[in-house]
Order: sequence, then structure tokens, then C-alpha cells
Amino acid sequence: MSRQKQKFIELYQCLRQETPDYPVFPDISLAPFTTFAVGGNADLLLLPRHRRELLRALELCEQLELPLIVLGGGANVLVSDIGIRGVVLSLCGLQDIGWNSRDFLLEAEAGWDMSQISGYSVRQSAAGLHHFYGMPGSLGGAVYMNARCYEGEMSEIVRRVLCIPRQSVPPAREAHADQGGQAEQADKAESFYRPSELRWVELGLGDWHYKYSHFRPDSGHALAGALIVAVELRLREQSQSGLEREMHSFLEDRIVKGHFRAPCGGSFFKNDRAFGAPTGQIIDGLGLKGLRHGGAQLAPWHGNIIINAGRASAGEIWQLSCRIREEVRQRTGFELEPEVQRLGDWQLWDSGH
Ligand SMILES: Cc1cc2nc3c(=O)[nH]c(=O)nc-3n(C[C@H](O)[C@H](O)[C@H](O)COP(=O)(O)OP(=O)(O)OC[C@H]3O[C@@H](n4cnc5c(N)ncnc54)[C@H](O)[C@@H]3O)c2cc1C
Repeated sequence: MSRQKQKFIELYQCLRQETPDYPVFPDISLAPFTTFAVGGNADLLLLPRHRRELLRALELCEQLELPLIVLGGGANVLVSDIGIRGVVLSLCGLQDIGWNSRDFLLEAEAGWDMSQISGYSVRQSAAGLHHFYGMPGSLGGAVYMNARCYEGEMSEIVRRVLCIPRQSVPPAREAHADQGGQAEQADKAESFYRPSELRWVELGLGDWHYKYSHFRPDSGHALAGALIVAVELRLREQSQSGLEREMHSFLEDRIVKGHFRAPCGGSFFKNDRAFGAPTGQIIDGLGLKGLRHGGAQLAPWHGNIIINAGRASAGEIWQLSCRIREEVRQRTGFELEPEVQRLGDWQLWDSGH
């Protein structure tokens, strides 16, 4: 048995010994945890139900030098068919909330579903989150992605984030880094989180860009890859009935646009002002709607939504997206950038096999 496997077993046993019903699942398919409904297995999936369970799992992962991959609501990720070798952590169980009606401040844990928390905020006659009603995913994922829709963007309402910075190197290797240079050898993609480093970080408008936050692992910022545990949002007062009307019109618009007609990850590619038109419109203009590759299809009703049209593999979805990018590059010169994040091992597809 590999050393890594032994560590998974150790982590599993520790968690279950301490908390017999700890939600920890070995060798489990991630497909049901993503809106594309595709993807292979995770070696171990952790679904802590509250902060104490989260922090204990992080502590054990740190001791065992097991890096973590973070999953939110799975609404913007494509998990490889090979799955994820390692520990996957979903914060969807973390849903504590506090409402300060005097200052219109909402503090909520990262696991809140975006529609549910929008509904909650509207019941407090608070505007700002209502734009996101109907958008799949969690609050943590929406911050990470700087999600935006219907003239609303997360950057406009996020005041501070409770997070744990990522350590790229396991603690044991870190201790020897200066002498042996072992830190350099560590895989930079590995993420370890030290519970004692949980802290609030204030963010200003200048910290965000279109579909970008400092939390992205490639941002080069001190927050790159940090684990978002909770968020403080500044909302504004507005009448509940008006907000409810807006909220339902957003949901209706999504239904009409076919967002929920088939498993998908929302817009596959980012928009880019330099293109002069929304990406979906550009792709549509090339007559590509309905294009298929195996079980994957460019939605016949939307130029920027790739759907799992039935038994698609993650590889087929990715290959179809590559084909669309190539067509757009050749015929317009525009370089499309995927918005959907790939998780897991993609070497097989990237090497062209
Ligand atoms: C039908 C449909 C419609 C959509 N419409 C929109 C839209 O209008 N606007 C829009 O912006 N997006 C849209 N999306 C995309 C998606 O809803 C958003 O990007 C959402 O914010 C993703 O959140 P999530 O929790 O599902 O994140 P996931 O998909 O699970 O993860 C996305 C990334 O965030 C990271 N992450 C997640 N949680 C955390 C955390 N707590 N700490 C650190 N990192 C974390 C993950 O590691 C991953 O890299 C749509 C998707 C679908 C399926």
C-alpha cells in the first residue's frame, strides 16, 4: 500500500474515531457534486458540517501532510474523468449566518447556496445579493470567481473575508526549506491550511477585476489559493416586495435562456470587451450552436453554454471547448478564455492523447 493511501486511511480513521458520523467519504464519485454531472472519483471527500469539523480536518491534513483541493457548489468546475488524487474539501455544510440590521451587514459562512442566501437577504429588505438569485453555487465560490450577473458583482458587496492563507509547502518540509531547498521541490499546486492562521482580510474595490479575485491560485497575491471560510457583505436597504419582483424576473430570465435545461457549468468562456460582443453571440455568429462531440454539445439554444447532453465525459466536454476555441481563433482571431475551472488530473488530454 502506498504511503499516500495509508495517510488517507489514517485521516479517515481519526475523523471517524473522534466524530463517528463525520461526513468523510473514500473513493467517491464527484459527478453528483458538480453541475456538469461528470468527473471521476476523489480519493477522499470531506464535507464538514460546521467550523469546528472544518478546522479539525485541516489540522489533521496539516499533520499528515495531505494537500487539499477545494470544491464549492461545483457550478463552475470540470472535474477530470480520472478524478482527483487527494483530499477534496467542500465547505457547503458551513452555513452559519449573522445579520446586523443597523448597519446592513451580513456575515455568512462560505457554504451558503447563493439562491438561499439571496432569499434570506431579501427577507431582511436588503439589496445587493438579490442579483444572484438563481445562480448555482456557494457563497465561497462566488467570492472566488467574483461572480456577476444582472448588473451585480460580488466585488461591490464584499467588505471582508474570513480566510486561511494557503501554504504551498507542508509544515515538515517548510522547516528544512532554508537548508535543503526542499521547499522548492514541493509541488506548488499543493494546498495546506493552518487553522491558527484563520483571519479576516478587508478588501476594497481595487482588489477585484472582471471574473477575478486575489483568491485565484495564479493571482500572485498573498491571498492566492486561500480558503474562504466566511464573508462579510455590506448590503443596502430596499423594499422587500420590489426586491422579490426583481429576483423572480432574474430567475425567469435564466429559465427562458435555458440555463437549467441540461447539466452545464454556465458560460463556458469569459466575455471580453475587446471582442465588441458577448462571447455567446460571437460563437453563435459562426453557426456553431448544436455542435457535438460524443455526449458533449454546444447548447442549441445558447452559444456560450456547453452541456452534458447525456453520458458526456469531462474529456469530451473539454475537447469540444478546445474545438470551439480553435474555430473562433481561426475565423475571428479572438482568443477565448475558459471561465470554467478544471480540477484534477488533465495530463492525458493536454498531451493530446
Ligand atoms: C446554470 C448556471 C448559470 C450560471 N450563471 C452564472 C452567472 O450568471 N454569473 C456568474 O458569474 N457565474 C455563473 N455561473 C457559474 C457559477 O455559478 C459561479 O461561478 C459560482 O460562483 C461558482 O460557485 P461554486 O460554489 O459552485 O464554485 P465551484 O464551481 O465549486 O468552484 C469554483 C472555484 O472556486 C474555488 N472555491 C470554491 N469555494 C471556495 C472556498 N470556500 N474557498 C476557496 N476557493 C473556493 C474552487 O476551488 C474552484 O476553483 C453559472 C453556472 C451555472 C451552472
